[in-house]
Amino acid sequence: MPRYFDPHLVNDPFGDPGLYVDLAFERRALIFDLGDLSRLSPRQLLRISHAFITHRHMDHFIGFDQLLRCILGRETTVGFYGPAGLIDAIEHKLKAYTWNLIAGYEGNPVLRVTEIDEKGRLASAQFKGRLAFERSDETKAISEAGVLLQEPGFEVRAATLDHGVPTLAFALEERAHINIWRNKVAAMGLEVGAWLGAFKEAIVRGSPEDTPIAVTWAGARGERPQSLPLGALKNEIMRVTSGRKIAYVVDCAFTDANVARAVALAKDADILFIEAAFLQADSARAGERQHLTAHQAGTIARRANVKRLVTLHYSPRYQGHGEQLAQEAEAAFRNG
Ligand SMILES: [Zn+2]
Repeated sequence: MPRYFDPHLVNDPFGDPGLYVDLAFERRALIFDLGDLSRLSPRQLLRISHAFITHRHMDHFIGFDQLLRCILGRETTVGFYGPAGLIDAIEHKLKAYTWNLIAGYEGNPVLRVTEIDEKGRLASAQFKGRLAFERSDETKAISEAGVLLQEPGFEVRAATLDHGVPTLAFALEERAHINIWRNKVAAMGLEVGAWLGAFKEAIVRGSPEDTPIAVTWAGARGERPQSLPLGALKNEIMRVTSGRKIAYVVDCAFTDANVARAVALAKDADILFIEAAFLQADSARAGERQHLTAHQAGTIARRANVKRLVTLHYSPRYQGHGEQLAQEAEAAFRNG
């Protein structure tokens, strides 16, 4: 199965958090957190179509300027998503610069900013380069189940966690595909045609297995039936490829509410990217700073039943001993 998305951390685990997800077949990328982005090439920065920001502590947001610098003069739209207050924050960042010459630039970069509050209320605004990044086109909506972005190939959901301030955790989920075996359609004597659309729709609707599906035979129908049961067709000509899922959880206290939300969001993910800021021996310090220990990160991964765990966002106090954090998280993940 081709891999639809290819996630990798922007920096080493002691560097600023950031997860770059290349959408290989679409020549674009998503990014989770905008910490220091200097390790991304201009080509990689220009591929970013959507940026998801957990919260606005500096190590998660300073890269906004690097991304903005890169898209100036380009004909592009980038979507930014984050907790309540993001629209004001981006407006202030944009107002910090002078734009008197931007109208003469060739391309018109557009920033489409969406924020979500703890009740799932969405607010959006737009900033167009051509208009010196003046704030415009404000809209409001309600998110269903934390969904921030839905596209034909995937969706991104957020959960609000507590880190002294509201912080978002994200899940990126590829949609399941219904694949039709064309050679098996032909082998049954059927024609590849419009009837396959109705067949797929019946599957998506969850219709009963004996639902008759009108088919088109290759050649004369003769004695052959006008329709075949859905279940029989499913067995013969279809395969469902389940989508991959990754989750990204950083900067949150190990409270019951946070754990429950993070576990629900990351449930059964293929990879959970999660902060492991402190060793469990320093859990008091982790609690004060409202960060997770490595053991706590592993515990969340275990409860969420993820397949793989990748830790990041290590405190600089463990510089040179990063493997201890990784091992502690892995041990809690595997053994509890
Ligand atoms: Zn933080």
